[in-house]
Amino acid sequence: MTVIADYIGKSATDNVRLALDAAKNAEQYHALLSLTEERALERAAKVDSGEITGRLAGVPFIAKDNFLTLGGTTTAASHILENFSAPLQATAIERLEAEGAICIGKANLDAFAHGGSTENSAFGPTLNSVDQSRVAGGSSGGSAVVVALEIVPFALGSDTGGSIREPASFNGVVGIKPTYGTVSRYGVVAMASSTDTIGCFTNNAADAELVMDVMAGRDASDMTTLPDFFGPTDVKPGQKVGVIKEFMTDDVDADVRARVHEYIERLKAAGHTVEEVSLPIVKYTLAMYYIIVPAEISSNLARYDGIRYGHRAQASSLAELYGRSRDEGFVAENKRRIMIGSYVLSSGFFDAYYLQAQKARTLLVNEFNALFDTYDILVGPVAPTPAFKLGENTTDPVKMYLADVMTVPASLAGLPAISVPAGNTSEGLPVGIQLIGQRRHDADILALARSMEGNA
Ligand code: GLN
Repeated sequence: MTVIADYIGKSATDNVRLALDAAKNAEQYHALLSLTEERALERAAKVDSGEITGRLAGVPFIAKDNFLTLGGTTTAASHILENFSAPLQATAIERLEAEGAICIGKANLDAFAHGGSTENSAFGPTLNSVDQSRVAGGSSGGSAVVVALEIVPFALGSDTGGSIREPASFNGVVGIKPTYGTVSRYGVVAMASSTDTIGCFTNNAADAELVMDVMAGRDASDMTTLPDFFGPTDVKPGQKVGVIKEFMTDDVDADVRARVHEYIERLKAAGHTVEEVSLPIVKYTLAMYYIIVPAEISSNLARYDGIRYGHRAQASSLAELYGRSRDEGFVAENKRRIMIGSYVLSSGFFDAYYLQAQKARTLLVNEFNALFDTYDILVGPVAPTPAFKLGENTTDPVKMYLADVMTVPASLAGLPAISVPAGNTSEGLPVGIQLIGQRRHDADILALARSMEGNA
């Protein structure tokens, strides 16, 4: 298992070269879209000469290719941004660099982070790290796989409705989506601004805490950012844990439920109280999510018009230029969401769909708040199944959306949630358990996850 401490105090140049070699040897997984070799080696030399120091000095990492970075392209796995060179870096990247971490490349994703399998990448899917006939999960599939394959000790992802937690679960690594507003979204390609969060993949909870602590905090360029509230906390004894009963029905894969039950038994053995709880409104959360998120997508993606960024199609009129650039630049799932979003926002349908969904979202927040009056942490599976076969869900978008049923609730409510490895299915596929915390209590879920590691 590769952890951050293995890289500290070593030659940064060696660290970076080894990571680059490992990346090149794992090309068959298609986890990476590009390597930023030159810039990475330049920065490594500065760490080795002592010019750059910090808590992550000389530690290589990989960012999902929707983070703006210098030294290469930022494509969002789309043709419209295929050759886009960002003029600036995301705040998250700047903060990691300020502590000496070194970005060596960009990971594959579903185009514009729309999806849950990385099969919507315009450049082809990422393969699961354990079984190459299966999906990596998504949308941050590439980032999960590079950590699972131990190419780097941490990778960055974005999670709007499960895009960190689901691939973490499918590849057996830790993946955290923090409280909404924890990490600046500045310089990360926007998907749905009211649920977009920035988080990371690691091989243990302590590393996740360190990376989040470095990235978190207020940023003048993102008005939603909160003050930093990470920092090491030990788990308080006798935590009250609620198991969300709607996540443990017979529709959920039996092996997934069995691994979650085992984790629950271990929580009890560690002295925590575990009880079943109900969140009745979760049956409506997918419907809310697939109205609110496309609405925000249709607004955020309006800027990709073939004029301001990236790909510009051949055309004889302005209308044709817009139309063709978007047609050639977006994948089908992007277009589907832009159309759904435009529909639910249009006059006449706004009240029936968007407004209703936002009202229902408030009811969801209220149900979560009521549970957190009694419980410290809520648990359940991350996804109803382990990694599915490539192509299994691509013909029916609704089937793909159903995989998000357990991750979108925390996203809509802005709560911190982490996927931690909970063992494997009988076929050897990884299963993650999801720990959901109260707003700004990210440290509590990390502390509980940390206390349970090595406790199997
Ligand atoms: N799978 C979800 C979706 O397709 C989540 C995506 C994400 O978190 N970026 O919207």
